[in-house]
Amino acid sequence: MRLTRYFLPVLKETPSEAQIVSHRLMLRAGMIKQQAAGIYSWLPMGFKVLKRIEAIVHEEQARAGHIPMLMPTLQPADLWRESDRYDAYGPEMLRIRDRHERDMLYGPTNEEMITDIFRSHVASYKDLPLTLYHIQWKFRDEIRPRFGVMRGREFYMKDGYNFDLTREDALHAYNRHLVSYLRTYERMGLQAIPMRADSGPIGGDDTHEFLVLAETGESEVFYDSAVTDIRLGDREIDYDDHAQCRAVMEEFTALYARTDETHDAEAFAQIPAERQRSARGIEVGQIFYFGTKYSEPMGATVQGPDGKPVPVHMGSHGIGVSRLVGAIIEASHDERGIVWPEGVTPFHVGIVNLKQGDAGTDRACEELYGALTKAGLEPLYDDRDERAGGKFATMDLIGLPWRITVGPRGLKSGVVELTSRRTGESEELSPEAAAEKVIEIYAPHHRQAEHWEPMAKRSFHTWL
Ligand code: ATP
Ligand code: MG
Repeated sequence: MRLTRYFLPVLKETPSEAQIVSHRLMLRAGMIKQQAAGIYSWLPMGFKVLKRIEAIVHEEQARAGHIPMLMPTLQPADLWRESDRYDAYGPEMLRIRDRHERDMLYGPTNEEMITDIFRSHVASYKDLPLTLYHIQWKFRDEIRPRFGVMRGREFYMKDGYNFDLTREDALHAYNRHLVSYLRTYERMGLQAIPMRADSGPIGGDDTHEFLVLAETGESEVFYDSAVTDIRLGDREIDYDDHAQCRAVMEEFTALYARTDETHDAEAFAQIPAERQRSARGIEVGQIFYFGTKYSEPMGATVQGPDGKPVPVHMGSHGIGVSRLVGAIIEASHDERGIVWPEGVTPFHVGIVNLKQGDAGTDRACEELYGALTKAGLEPLYDDRDERAGGKFATMDLIGLPWRITVGPRGLKSGVVELTSRRTGESEELSPEAAAEKVIEIYAPHHRQAEHWEPMAKRSFHTWL
């Protein structure tokens, strides 16, 4: 993308309504525009990051064997009357009446609707296990929408639902989700710690929230600092292997880590004093096992092996896709702007032309742009007729992990400058070597997506 043809409305002033750094930076970097309290337009660069996060979520769901689909944002109230949640959900639910006086609602979550789909089409235990998910806009009329996309009213969420014959199988689905979520967040450059939590209006006994530690987080958390040393990394996981998924779940949940709702001061006191931590965290996901809470009242049964009908065991699993955009910025920024992790960056590398209009510099930039694009990367070429300082400030603000600076002086000795946004370190290289190095840096990220179906890969990665 050439900056002169893009739409990147960066702000010079710091918007006064934004209380936390991610909200400020998203507004300043021209990623979002507020349309009403807690409701945002996603401007092109914000949209791009949102779609990159979404693509990683899809890829890791596919890897775990979960099936994508799409349910509508609007739902009939009657489904929620069946589960008794229509009244219980309270003022957070946005209720709408259509022209025929039918009660509708803008879905805050989809347990009822997915249970309805299941009971309409699945009759036998032989069709289990089954996990369906979608990524769709949700609406919760939050009492205090704030912090930009972190606590919106309209927000984008992945929600998945598992259907299993037995509790044992459903617990495997729980563990499988836990493992796949760990991998999902790590690919976004985040450490999200699973913490024992409270199930809230979803219900059920087993639930973990995934928390990113950050001072601005809305949750109070208590944990053993040793938990922050564990990483999933790129270990091979067989998502059908019950024992392996359970072992990973146990490894990540053995140490004390809880939100304030389930905090147990006595158990916390058992942790060696130097490892006791209380801090703030941002909830970026949650998994639930709730057994037959919905399948029983809604009649979602299958014919079991003995021919008798049995209600299925279910769980639901959510990732806050739009909240993650803010959470990643909270975890990765400095005083000059955003520092995108390579896995989610809107553009892989910025090209800064120090002397726009100089034939040699323009040509070198075009060649670099061509070579990077040909290798499947998306460079953002700052081809504006602006002074260097302004170009650097924009690049620092929007936070691309790598920058290639091209100027007539360097080109005279055959070099350009490759700079890391994170460390600020620069290195002089030939233009070819700089392109090679950037391609090399992103190779592992591209390999992660390789198992993903070619069609889907194309549609998610290249049309934006
Ligand atoms: P919270 O406690 O923050 O209100 P929740 O526990 O009610 O969230 P879940 O039902 O677990 O939310 O939804 C799954 C995920 O969706 C959450 O982990 C969070 O990342 C995201 N999410 C929930 N509410 C919002 C919101 N108002 N704005 C943005 N993301 C949200
Ligand atoms: Mg939650």
